[in-house]
Amino acid sequence: MSTVKAAVCHAFGEPLVVEDITLRAPQMGEIEVTLKAVAVCHSDISFAEGAWGSSLPAVYGHEAAGHVTSVGDGVVGLAEGDPVVVTLIRACGSCPSCAEGKPTICGTPYDGDKGPLTTADGGTLHQAMACGAFAEKVVVDQSQVVKISDDIPMEAASLIACGVITGVGAVVNAAQIRAGQDVVVIGAGGVGLNAIQGARIAGARRIVAVDMGEEKLEIAKEFGATDGVLATDKKPFVQAIRAMGRGADAVIVTVGAIPAYDQAPRYLAPGGKVIMVGMPHSGEKSSYEPVILAAIGQGMQGSKMGDVVIKRDIPWMVDLYQQGRLKLDELISGRWTLDQINEAIADTKTGSAKRNVIVFDD
Ligand SMILES: [Zn+2]
Ligand SMILES: [Zn+2]
Repeated sequence: MSTVKAAVCHAFGEPLVVEDITLRAPQMGEIEVTLKAVAVCHSDISFAEGAWGSSLPAVYGHEAAGHVTSVGDGVVGLAEGDPVVVTLIRACGSCPSCAEGKPTICGTPYDGDKGPLTTADGGTLHQAMACGAFAEKVVVDQSQVVKISDDIPMEAASLIACGVITGVGAVVNAAQIRAGQDVVVIGAGGVGLNAIQGARIAGARRIVAVDMGEEKLEIAKEFGATDGVLATDKKPFVQAIRAMGRGADAVIVTVGAIPAYDQAPRYLAPGGKVIMVGMPHSGEKSSYEPVILAAIGQGMQGSKMGDVVIKRDIPWMVDLYQQGRLKLDELISGRWTLDQINEAIADTKTGSAKRNVIVFDD
């Protein structure tokens, strides 16, 4: 049992409150990680605004890295002192999805109300996304953690936990892009830039970034986009198709905006598919013409967390970073302390930010 500082959401839409909470010791199969860095993801903000519901009070935060400081019984391959990436991908290992090698869609529910967190006075405190990483320490299941090499900076490592695996994985795992194919990425934010560099790593021929901001299209080119199209243009898909010479083999939608989803199939080549990554608010609906998709063999496919298998995919991403082939440092737009978390969130909401990272002292 330890007392740690955490940013707690008491009411949707209100600023988070940095306060002491209680974290119980790791139990069977769990590990405690003392965090060095946690990034602010748009999902944290959506949760904190109540877009997807959730019980309160809650601790969000799910894009983290740190060192193992305590290990529960039954933990395999992790020891105190190990540098790790902490993800929200909690996988039971035995449900049909896990057994099929798809841990990101594990079917075993997790009740964050009964997790390792309680308020200072012993009340229920929801461990959001099985992580609760807007805190100095987390206790998580061993399935959520990957050991990494100790010479990668922790701020860079934290980004891999969500934005990087989601974007790169959408291209290499979900769309399975191979050399020479064409990719459109809608949204050049935290996830979109990673989809763009995923397409570059996969050897895509044309990588067209679509975004509302001219300046973000410029950043997209630094990450590997060959072309940029303004989403505010009347028919951005016409320009994108002109740049590629034909439709796209895959369109990766990394934003939660409904107009982006409505238009996404318009960018496709025959046989191409839309990979749905961005998460609109619950209840919002998109429309498309089924006859076209059916007639020319197109598809739409959801991709959660880049369909990654973390112990397979995160080590190669770390290696590509160390070789200079995966940009991580360039994704960071600001560094903040936990006490400044509301400012970091406000900056992320302006839309200009890549990733804001909360950094913890030694
Ligand atoms: Zn995230
Ligand atoms: Zn499972």
